Amino acid sequence: MDAIVNNPTKTGLNYTKFESGSLQSWIENSVEIPGLGKVPGKLFLKEQMGLTSTEISINALPAGEGMPFHHTHKQNEEIYIFLNGTGQLQIDDEVLDVKEGSIVKIAPNGVRTWRNNGTEMLVYLVLQMKDNSLAQWGLEDADVPEKEVVWPE
Ligand code: ZN
Repeated sequence: MDAIVNNPTKTGLNYTKFESGSLQSWIENSVEIPGLGKVPGKLFLKEQMGLTSTEISINALPAGEGMPFHHTHKQNEEIYIFLNGTGQLQIDDEVLDVKEGSIVKIAPNGVRTWRNNGTEMLVYLVLQMKDNSLAQWGLEDADVPEKEVVWPE
């Protein structure tokens, strides 16, 4: 919990900023998951930041460790974005090697687990959002207000 206390959330009119600390410090986070107990190295951001469209968790898994269970989802697609280290994702009995820069989308029904089989901390984001919920995307959703770009001195 210390990582949270030391990295407060700042909220403005149209934003929320959260300092998650260095990637290596993410291992200090933990979440309590009913039936599983305390899971180290994981922090969910929805409550932390008041997210309304996406659940994001930030994750760190030490070398040699792995999830002791498989899981699926009821309605949400998940996207795993690997930022550091090397590991493996097992999805429906197929094994994918992952490393810094790997991005994997998993459909709700995919039976998944993963491990760090490397020598460095496996650091990754997990984004969770309702399957097929995206109504518009990319430039289609962007507007460009008439406002000159000026930065304070
Ligand atoms: Zn999940």
